[in-house]
Amino acid sequence: MRADPADYCYFSPGNLIEALGLLAKDPAQWLPIAGGTDVMVQYSAGKLVYRNLMNIWNIPELRNIEVSPEEIRIGAACTYTELRKHEIVSREFELLSRAAAWTGGIANQNRGTLGGNIANASPGADSLPALLVYGAELTLISERGARRVAYADFHHGYKKTALAGDELIREITLPRRFSEYFAHARKVGARNAQAISKVCLAALGQLVDGKVHDVRIALGSIAPVPLRLYETENAVRGRQMDGFLIEAARKVVTKEIQPIDDIRSTARYRAEVAGNLVEEFLEKLMATESSA
Ligand SMILES: Cc1cc2nc3c(=O)[nH]c(=O)nc-3n(C[C@H](O)[C@H](O)[C@H](O)COP(=O)(O)OP(=O)(O)OC[C@H]3O[C@@H](n4cnc5c(N)ncnc54)[C@H](O)[C@@H]3O)c2cc1C
Repeated sequence: MRADPADYCYFSPGNLIEALGLLAKDPAQWLPIAGGTDVMVQYSAGKLVYRNLMNIWNIPELRNIEVSPEEIRIGAACTYTELRKHEIVSREFELLSRAAAWTGGIANQNRGTLGGNIANASPGADSLPALLVYGAELTLISERGARRVAYADFHHGYKKTALAGDELIREITLPRRFSEYFAHARKVGARNAQAISKVCLAALGQLVDGKVHDVRIALGSIAPVPLRLYETENAVRGRQMDGFLIEAARKVVTKEIQPIDDIRSTARYRAEVAGNLVEEFLEKLMATESSA
């Protein structure tokens, strides 16, 4: 351990009003800690810039999951285990529950939170492509009030987000309109478990009479921010689904993405795998009609 606890101030407000009051008084001076699974890695490496640490794990307003006929609202401090166990999440948001199941090991899933995964803003974070294809919205809260932002607009660049220094992510809202879609998710990493993705995909699609009625595709670990493949989606939407379309879509993927080189993989490998994953999704989507 390269950090000394004596160098840090740790405070646990226990309720949302007090937490927001502290952030309002000293914006960007407090680091919120939810599960701590990302923060503690930086702490023990001696790389934590912040000296004031605020526990938000036990704030009840951040731990609820509320379901209405139109949407589900997931408190930002809900853990992967809570997501996996939630009946509606596992039935209607398969992409999210699958990402929760392959995020780290069981201990990590018991502590790691969806809000932490979003705010940490790693390009390799596993739940983020699912949030993109489900059209998630985030509620950001501060003493100034609450504002709802499309998740697609949250990341401004590598580790840069729309979150102001006095704000917390309060909840993540997903519309309940994709339960009839075919859902497909894949994570490619060095191992099946306990590995950060080299490339991950989340995708939804629906065929009607052999045509692509709708398709939504996102990739993680491929760019500085999670990427929705709008050009690829537009190239297949409304078209007859067949092998030629899949081949054409693969070419659009290669043009649309500009993969990154980093310690986990090369840009060339990522481009090839991204093409494979989109092709696999479209083939499985095509098979849903023949098996219906
Ligand atoms: C062994 C191990 C394996 C892992 N495997 C994976 C994996 O397979 N896939 C993957 O995606 N991740 C993985 N992670 C990373 C991590 O577990 C996830 O990113 C997790 O979701 C982080 O959530 P947390 O609550 O622990 O975040 P914390 O560590 O508490 O916080 C992370 C960041 O988010 C901020 N934050 C947290 N909550 C809020 C909020 N409500 N509002 C504003 N800011 C907030 C914090 O200030 C901090 O900057 C792994 C980590 C470890 C240690």
